[in-house]
Amino acid sequence: MSHFVVPNHIIVGNGVLNEAAPILKKMGNKAFIVTGKHVAVSDMMKKLISLLDENDIRYVVFDGIIGEPDDVMIENGVDLLKNSDCDFIIGIGGGSPLDSAKAIAAMAVNGGSISDYNGKEISGEILPLAAIPTTAGTGSEATKFTVITDSQKGIKMLLKGDVLVPKLAIVDSKFTVSSPKSVTAATGLDALTHAVEAYTSKKAFSMTDTLAVSAVKRIMKYLPLAFNDSENINAREQMSIAALEAGICINNSSVTIVHGMSRPIGALFHVPHGMSNAMLLKECLSFAVSGAYEKFANLGRETGVALDSDSDKSVAEKFIDSLKTVCDVCQIPTLEGYGIDKDEYYSKIPKMAKDAVASGSPGNTVRNVTEKDCIEIYKKLYA
Ligand SMILES: [Zn+2]
Repeated sequence: MSHFVVPNHIIVGNGVLNEAAPILKKMGNKAFIVTGKHVAVSDMMKKLISLLDENDIRYVVFDGIIGEPDDVMIENGVDLLKNSDCDFIIGIGGGSPLDSAKAIAAMAVNGGSISDYNGKEISGEILPLAAIPTTAGTGSEATKFTVITDSQKGIKMLLKGDVLVPKLAIVDSKFTVSSPKSVTAATGLDALTHAVEAYTSKKAFSMTDTLAVSAVKRIMKYLPLAFNDSENINAREQMSIAALEAGICINNSSVTIVHGMSRPIGALFHVPHGMSNAMLLKECLSFAVSGAYEKFANLGRETGVALDSDSDKSVAEKFIDSLKTVCDVCQIPTLEGYGIDKDEYYSKIPKMAKDAVASGSPGNTVRNVTEKDCIEIYKKLYA
């Protein structure tokens, strides 16, 4: 059975923020804005605040999201929200503030601590949520997922629930122009990973396939352009659209082995999410490919990396090589190049493999993935 869940309202394009005013006005009278320290003092925030002021919408700013979010940051946000009389929530920033806005919205109506909900479906009527991404990558503006680190256990929890899908997604590519190169690379490759994983997932179906192919084609063409020229407005807009498409894909057909194995690296070695995905992309998909030559080959033919006369196996392998080329263009380092100590990494491999499989994501891969397989891939990654 296939379900297709998307935000109620999506506004997408270059300079579209102001078009959101009438919808924001209907969402409530006082907004609880969730963001990070950097975006809180940016021009993007000034634009949002002046839009709210012009429309008589009051607001409180919570800028306590520093790096990738953990349970403590979420608790601080919930405390402030409960004392604020806000009646809707706006998340603005990269994936971290958007994920945090969802988690805060959920924990304001659900009891206990956030770690109680790891692996369970989050429900309950949450405050209306608007999401404004300032990077082109995570697709969090369109998903029912939020990833929050459990600071006690050192794991990244994947929390989910249809109630977490934002009611409104404002995808204004103008907001991504100030992204530094490393962020453009990591977030863009995160979106690429989403699209490829969703397309080759066991849960893929026609609706997600269409958007996944579209996203992969846009990213392979425009990510190198956006990376090399941050002011390339067309490339930025295409990347924003692709990230949104890819976000909708994972919302409905899930991620697979790459994300499953990426979260433990992120949690234990503090590698940014998109970067750890990119580091894993070639090894993980080279493992998965034999379960789905035809689908990987479709992506290869759609992106023009091989001749029509090539066999599915050959095109599929060329496509995976082309993903590695994009990672190289975007200057993705190796684990060693990132500064991760080999002995420490090897000592953590059994835990990472266990956590990866336990997250459930590798189970969506078309080829069966065991802990032993993850151990082998983690080892190859540092070889
Ligand atoms: Zn991701």
